[in-house]
Amino acid sequence: MRSYKIAAMGGDGIGPEVVEAGVQVLKTCAERDGGFTLDVQDFDWGSDYYRTHGVMMPADGAEQLRQFDAILFGAVGAPDIPDHITLWGLRLSICQPLDQYANVRPTRILPGITSPLRHVSGPELDWVIVRENSEGEYSGVGGRVHKGLPIEVAQDVSVMTRAGVQRIIRYAFRLAQSRPRKLLTVVTKSNAQRHAMVMWDEIAAEVAQEFPDVTWDKMLVDAMTMRMVMKPQTLDTIVATNLHADILSDLAAALAGSLGIAPTANINPERDAPSMFEPIHGSAFDITGKGIANPVATFWTAAMMLEHLGEKPAADRLMRAVERVTADPALHTPDLGGKATTRQVTDAVCEALRRAN
Ligand code: ATP
Ligand code: MG
Repeated sequence: MRSYKIAAMGGDGIGPEVVEAGVQVLKTCAERDGGFTLDVQDFDWGSDYYRTHGVMMPADGAEQLRQFDAILFGAVGAPDIPDHITLWGLRLSICQPLDQYANVRPTRILPGITSPLRHVSGPELDWVIVRENSEGEYSGVGGRVHKGLPIEVAQDVSVMTRAGVQRIIRYAFRLAQSRPRKLLTVVTKSNAQRHAMVMWDEIAAEVAQEFPDVTWDKMLVDAMTMRMVMKPQTLDTIVATNLHADILSDLAAALAGSLGIAPTANINPERDAPSMFEPIHGSAFDITGKGIANPVATFWTAAMMLEHLGEKPAADRLMRAVERVTADPALHTPDLGGKATTRQVTDAVCEALRRAN
């Protein structure tokens, strides 16, 4: 019997609620499948941990996580702690040492969900956005001097390396190659940013030589936002920098109907450390503790986790169960205009899993 060690980290806000739901669904997947078991260990790192210990996680946190096969993460961020502490102190302090350099964000319009794009039918929108997750605009390099004075200077330096760009573009080509349409769009802003973005374009053309069966094109990020709205059917796999893909994937999540549905995976493609799976949404304190958080994004990311672990049949079975549930408006949470609770949706997905072939 195959066995996987999973680290479950709810974090802040609705994070613990959706991660608890995700663990319940994952365990049901394992029972239903019969071929593998999950050994889940909970971690209480996050803003409450910070209030007691002065840090978001222990100094050796990333090292503790190394022994796991995968990490299920909820959300991080609290109104009373600055974002640069919460985000850098937990999420980025895990992603960077574990070298989860590919942030992968699939977007589809699930059955029963209404997209704001009225001119597009569900199956016509099927994207995966690959976000560079280790350097670029969010490298943390920069500084501020002469704070508050008229001569104040602030800099955020975007750092892009040939090795970093090559590996993310190669990952995106490989992913595009594995999908039926074998289509990749490389997004940059090389008309206005004339150093690193030009290097991206050059590296894309070089890496493309290794993938003659993949059709690829280049887009400037501003034009890309229009294309996502006006001609979503022309897109499939998309690769962009840390900042650009961050913005494009929020747009993608909105076009798919709700932030409560959108999943993401922080992948270590070399598999020398665990990958981390999380919903795209944040802590959502406005609905925390009310039992109405949409758990679908967490279920979808759990399916990505199963696929990454090599349990593709279980992953596919989970997505079919999720789709059966989203197709029923009586099982929509308030963010989708319904009245269902996190618990009702979770139980319904588990029930659909038990009845699935
Ligand atoms: P963060 O800074 O942590 O990213 P944010 O302020 O950007 O947080 P999110 O938490 O991402 O906000 O969510 C924005 C809004 O979307 C929330 O206020 C909430 O109402 C809604 N929302 C987000 N996730 C969900 C969910 N899973 N279920 C229902 N509603 C959600
Ligand atoms: Mg946010």
